[in-house]
Amino acid sequence: MYNFIGYKIESDSTLILYLEGDLSEFAKEFNGLEENKSERFEEGILNYVKNNMPNIKFKTVKVMLGPLLIASLPFSSMQAEASSNVEKAQIQQDEAYIVKSGDTLYKIANKFGVDIGELKEINNLSNNMIYPGQKLIIPQNLKGIYIVKYGDTLYEISAKYNISVEELRIHNKLVSNMIYPGDEIYIPSSDILQTIHKLSPGIIRLGHNGEDVKRVQRALNTLGYIIKESGEYDKTTEWAIKDFQSQYYKLMNDGVYGPNTREYLIKAILSDHRIVNNFSNTLVVVNKEYSLPFDYEPENLVIPSVRFTFEEYDEKKLLRHDSASALKELFISAKKEGVILYAQSGYRSYDRQRQIFGIKTMTRGMTEANRFSAKAGESEHQTGLAMDITSESVGFRLSQNFGETKEGKWLKENSYKFGFIIRYPKGKERVTGYQYEPWHIRYVGKDIAKEIDDKELTLEEYMNIK
Ligand SMILES: [Zn+2]
Repeated sequence: MYNFIGYKIESDSTLILYLEGDLSEFAKEFNGLEENKSERFEEGILNYVKNNMPNIKFKTVKVMLGPLLIASLPFSSMQAEASSNVEKAQIQQDEAYIVKSGDTLYKIANKFGVDIGELKEINNLSNNMIYPGQKLIIPQNLKGIYIVKYGDTLYEISAKYNISVEELRIHNKLVSNMIYPGDEIYIPSSDILQTIHKLSPGIIRLGHNGEDVKRVQRALNTLGYIIKESGEYDKTTEWAIKDFQSQYYKLMNDGVYGPNTREYLIKAILSDHRIVNNFSNTLVVVNKEYSLPFDYEPENLVIPSVRFTFEEYDEKKLLRHDSASALKELFISAKKEGVILYAQSGYRSYDRQRQIFGIKTMTRGMTEANRFSAKAGESEHQTGLAMDITSESVGFRLSQNFGETKEGKWLKENSYKFGFIIRYPKGKERVTGYQYEPWHIRYVGKDIAKEIDDKELTLEEYMNIK
C-alpha cells in the first residue's frame, strides 16, 4: 500500500524511509474521517522494515516525503505495542517508569511534564545517561497546579514560578488579577517556559540557521507540528510558520518569523492546554479548551463484549468498565430490534493522539487537523468513556451518512436509555468545537443522558461551560 523508494540509516540508529509520490497523493490516504488510517500507515512501515531489514535494530523510524518529515515513530514501542498497557498501569501505581530503548532523559521529562533537573535529583543521577530497564522515579509534586492560599497575590505566584503575570493570566484564562483562596492556578511546565522564554525577539526566515531556528522549531512542535529540530529554517519550517500564521488574521501570512508571530506563538502555547482535574468523573468535559493530563489513563479499562469492525487486540477496543457494560446492553438491545452495530474505536492514549494529530497537521495544516481530530489530551477518547460506532450500511466508515442510516437513527433515538449521548450533534459545532459526528457516543450515566436528550443539550451546555 505504501511504496518506499529508499532508506538511509543514521548513526544514532534512526532509520529514514523515503516515501514515493507527491504530497497530495499522500494526503489522500488521510482523507475522510476514518481514524484507523494512520494505524495502517504504521503497519505499512512495520511490514516494510520487517521484509527489507529483518536484522537491523532501530530506535526511531522517520518517514520523509521529499524534504518533508511526515512522521517520526519510536520503533521499539511499535514492536511492543501489545504490552504497553501493562507498563502504563504500573506507572500509576508506584510512580516509577521503566526506561525503554530509545528513551532519553529529555524525552521522559517531557512526557511527564517535569524538569530534567528535578528528575535527576530525585533519581540521584549525576549525568544524563540512562539505560533500558532502568527504573526512574517520577516526581509527583510538579503536577502544574498551585492552590491559592489566603493572602496570595498573582504577582507572588508568578515570581515564584518564574513566569510573568501576563503569561500566567493567559495560561489560566484570567480576565483580572483577582484570585481567591482555594482557586487552582495552572503553572506551565518548566520546559514550556523555557521554550517560550528563549524564542528570539528578532526576525528569522528561510535559509537562516542556528539555535534561534531550533527554538522556533521546538515551539512549533509543542503546538503539534512534527518537524525536525534541525536548526535550519527550511521549507518545512516555513510551511509550518505559514500554516500557523494563517490562523490569525492579524498576522501576515508570509512564513517569516518575527515579533508578532513570536507573540502569537507564545499565546498559543500558553493557552493551549488547560488541564481538567476531575478527569475520572463520568461527567468530565474534555474538548479543545479543557484537556486531560498527558499521563492520565483511566483505571479498569476492559474490552466490552460487543462486535467490533476488526478482530485483533488493539488499545482502541478498550473502554472504562462502567461504560463497557452499558455499551454491551445497548448492543444487545439494538440487535433485538434487528439493528446490527459495530464498535470501531474507544480508548485512545495520549501518545496515540499525538501521533494522529501530528500526521494530520503535516498533511492538512493545523486548522484542518483541528476540525477533524483532537490535539493530544483534547480527545474525549482518552477518558475511556467514548466509542465510535459504525455499520455495514456505511461500509464500516465513520461518516456523517451514518446519521441517515437505520443504525444511526436507532443510535440517536435510543442511546440515552443506556446512559450514552451523541456527543457532537448537528448544529452545535460552535458549542462543542466539532463538526457533526453521528457515530461518536459518550457515556454519562442514564439519568443525565436522559436529561441531555430531553432538553437537546450538549455536555458543555449541561455542565454550563462556555
Ligand atoms: Zn470519536
